[in-house]
Amino acid sequence: MTGTLLPIPLPRLPDAAEAVPARYREETMAGQLAETIDLASHLAITHVVVAVAVMTFFWDVASHRYLVSLVAAVTIFSGLLPAIGWVGRHRQAWLPGLGVRTKAVRILILGLGLAWSTMPFVLFGPSGVDHRMLVVAITAGLIATAFVLNGIPHLAICFCVPLVVGSFLALVLTGEQASFLLAVLLAIYAAFVLASVRRMTRLSTERILDRVRVFHQNETIGLLLHEFEANTSDWLWETDAAGTLQHVSERMAEVSGIAMADLLHAPFDRLLRSGRPDAPLGDGGRELIALTRSATAFRDHVVEIPGPDGPRWWRLSGKPTYDRDGSFVGVRGVGSDITATRRSEDRIAYLASYDSLTCLANRALFGLQAGAECERAGRVNEPCALLYMDLDGFKIVNDTFGHNIGDRLLQQVARRLRTAVDTGELVARLGGDEFAILHRRITDDAAVGLAERLIAIVSAPYVIDGIQVEIGASVGIGMTPRDAVEPESLMGKADLALYHAKSSGKGRVSMFEPTLERAMRTRRDLETDLKAAIAQGELDLHYQPLVNLRTGRVDSFEALLRWSTPARGVISPADFVPVAEACGLISAIGRWVLGRACAEAVRWPAATRIAVNISPSHFRHSDLLQDVVDALSASGLDPRRLELEITESIFFEMNAAIASNLRELRALGVRIALDDFGTGYSSLSYLIRFPVDKIKIDRSFIKDMNTRHECLAIIEAILTLARKLSIRVTAEGVESVEQAIMLQARRCDDIQGFLFSPARPAGEVPLLLEMLPMRFHAIFPVQAREPGREIEDAHARLSA
Ligand code: C2E
Ligand code: CA
Ligand code: CA
Repeated sequence: MTGTLLPIPLPRLPDAAEAVPARYREETMAGQLAETIDLASHLAITHVVVAVAVMTFFWDVASHRYLVSLVAAVTIFSGLLPAIGWVGRHRQAWLPGLGVRTKAVRILILGLGLAWSTMPFVLFGPSGVDHRMLVVAITAGLIATAFVLNGIPHLAICFCVPLVVGSFLALVLTGEQASFLLAVLLAIYAAFVLASVRRMTRLSTERILDRVRVFHQNETIGLLLHEFEANTSDWLWETDAAGTLQHVSERMAEVSGIAMADLLHAPFDRLLRSGRPDAPLGDGGRELIALTRSATAFRDHVVEIPGPDGPRWWRLSGKPTYDRDGSFVGVRGVGSDITATRRSEDRIAYLASYDSLTCLANRALFGLQAGAECERAGRVNEPCALLYMDLDGFKIVNDTFGHNIGDRLLQQVARRLRTAVDTGELVARLGGDEFAILHRRITDDAAVGLAERLIAIVSAPYVIDGIQVEIGASVGIGMTPRDAVEPESLMGKADLALYHAKSSGKGRVSMFEPTLERAMRTRRDLETDLKAAIAQGELDLHYQPLVNLRTGRVDSFEALLRWSTPARGVISPADFVPVAEACGLISAIGRWVLGRACAEAVRWPAATRIAVNISPSHFRHSDLLQDVVDALSASGLDPRRLELEITESIFFEMNAAIASNLRELRALGVRIALDDFGTGYSSLSYLIRFPVDKIKIDRSFIKDMNTRHECLAIIEAILTLARKLSIRVTAEGVESVEQAIMLQARRCDDIQGFLFSPARPAGEVPLLLEMLPMRFHAIFPVQAREPGREIEDAHARLSA
C-alpha cells in the first residue's frame, strides 16, 4: 500500500452544505453519515466480490501473498463501514461523536481507495494484454462504485483519487502509447464521475437539510398547536373529503359536550348539533356544511349551536386541503366559542334599545321606529299617532316613599300600558316619568279615546309593598303625516300638545293644533323681550292694600309686578311670570322684587307690612334665604314686616332646601302666607307639618260666594279651621260691598280686592293708607266714627 496521497479533510461542509444553517448542521451531517453507512453494505459486498474475482483471475500470474492481502484489506476496509452502522443501531453507548465517525468513514474509504490503487502497479507488470485490459475494466468499474459515496462530501475523492492516480501511473509507466491513451481516458472518466458525485452530494445535502428542516418545523408546529389548544378557547378541526372529523381535541370535546372517541370519524354536522342527531341545524349550520362540502374556504362564520342551557355560538374558519395531485382531501380550520362575547354584545344591543327598568323600548329605539312610521305613514297616507304621556304626581311618590317604590311604580305603569296597547304597537319609556306610544292606522278620535283610556288605566290606584299610591297622567298627541313628517318634529308637536294638556289641568288629553305653536312662538318672543326688559329696567312694582276687617286699617300691601313696554303696552304678571319661571329668569326677578319691595316698605309707617310673592322655583333654591337676608339688610326693614306669599305647590316636592328655607325664614321673623288657598290640593296636613302665618283664600271662591253656596261653605270651613289653628285669613279678589260684609260677618281677618283698591304705584301708598280706613268706615258705618266729608275728600284726591 502506498503512503497517504491526500490529507484527510476535516468534517467541513462545503458548497450547498456551507449554506446549512448552524442549527441544522449537526443533524444534516448525521443524516449524510447515516445514508452513506446505509449504502456501505452494498459497497462492501461488491468490493469483496470484486477482490475475490481479481484474486481468482490473477492467481496464476501474480504473487499469492499480494492477492490475499488485497482481499483482506478490501474486506477489512469495506466491512468496517456496515459495522459502524450496526454499532449505531444496536450499541448506541459505544458510539463515538459524529465528527469522529465521519472521520473514521473517510479513513476507511481512503484506505479502500489506497488498497485498490496498488492493483494496477502490482498486476500490470506480470500481465499480458488481456489481463491488463481486465485491470483497466475492473478499475473503471470500481470508480463507478464511487456513485454510492455521495452522502458525505469529499468521500468519493478519498476513494477515487488514489485509485485513479495509481492506475494512471501504472498505465503511463508501461511506456506504450495505447496504455497512455487509456490512462487519459480513465482520468477523464474519473473526473466525470467525481463531478457527478459532487453534484449528487450537493443534492443529497439539500434533501437531507430539507428533511431536517421539515422535521423541526413539524415539531414547532406541533408544539404551537398543542400550546394553542391548551391555552386558548379555540380549537382545531379537520375533516376528510367525506366530511368526517379527523382531528379532534380535548377542547373540542369539552366545548361540544361530546366525548373525543365519539367525535373522531363522526360526521362534521354531529359537532354542530352538539351530538343530538334530532337537534335542528340552523341556517348558519346548514350553510357551513354546504361550504365544507363544496370545498370553499370561509372565515369567521358564526353558527348557533343548540345547548342544554340555551343556544351557544361558535365562530369557525376553514380552508380546503388538497393532496399532491390537487384532489380535495378535506377541510382544516379553527373554531372558537364566542357565546360569552355574543351574549354581552346582545346585552349591549338590548340596553342600547330598551329601558332596563321597564323593559320597554327606550328613546333611541322609539326615535328609530317613529322615523320609520313617519316615512311609512307619509308614503301610504295612513295616519299614525304619537301619544306623549307624562305622569302627574310621580315625583311626590318618589320623594315621599323613596326611589325603590318609585321604580316599582314605573314598572307597574309600564306593564299596564303594555297590556292596554294593542300588540304590535310600540310603547316606550322616554326617560323619568315620560312614556310614549306609537299607534298606526288610527283616527284622531280613536287616538284621543286611546289616550283617555290610558290615563284612566294609569290613574287607578297601585299597591306596592302594602302602600297604596295614586298618580295621574296627561297626554299630548301628534299625528303623522298631518302634523309632521319628521320624527323629531312629530315628537316636538306631541310635546307641545302635552304642555298644553298639563297647563290646562291634570289628567287631560290634548291634540296638537297649529295655534299651540303660535302660542309657543309668542311665549318665545315674550321670553326674549323679558330678558331685555330686566336689563332696561322696564319692570316696576305696584302695591295692593290688604284691609283689616276689624279695624279698617291697611295692615299690609302686596307687591305686584308690572311690566309696561313701549311696544306691547302693559303685560300682566299672570302672562310673564310663568315664562320667567320656565326660562329660569324668575330667581333674578324675585331677588329684584324683594330688594325693591323692602326698600319701599321701609318708608311706610312701622305697622304696615309688605307681602312679596315668591315663585316655587325660586323657593326651591337654597339662595332664597340669602336673597331675603340681603334685601332686609340693604333696606334695614324689620324682618317681622316682611311677608312671603308662597303657593301650596312647593309642598308637593318638599325637599331639604325647601324645608330649611321655611324654617330659617320663620326663625328670622319673616311671616309666611299661603297664597291661592283652595286651588291646589289644599291638603290640610301641610298646615300642621309646615305652619304658616296666613292663608289667602283664592279669589275664585270669593267671586261666587254669594251665588254658589259651595263656595261659601268652603270659605266658612277654611275660616273655622284657620281660627282653630290661629292662622290669619285674607280673602282675595273682594270686589263688592256685599262680599266684604259677608266676610266680615264670618270674621275673616283681611280683605284684598278692587273694592278698596287695585295695585297702585309706590307713590300712592301714603294716600291709600290715609284714605282706605275712611272708605272702610263708609261701608261699615257701625264701626265708622266720622264718615262724611273726610271720605269724599280722600276720593277726590285719589281720582285727581
Ligand atoms: P296673586 O298673587 O294671586 O295676586 C293677586 C292678583 O289678583 C293680582 O293680579 C291682582 O291684581 C289681582 N286682583 C286683586 N284684586 C282683584 C280683584 O278684586 N278682582 C280681580 N279680578 N283681580 C284682583 P296680577 O297683579 O295680575 O298678578 C297676577 C299673579 O302674578 C299674582 O297672583 C301672582 O301669582 C303673580 N305675581 C305678581 N307679582 C309677582 C311677583 O312679584 N313675583 C311672583 N313670583 N309672582 C307675581
Ligand atoms: Ca299673591
Ligand atoms: Ca293669590
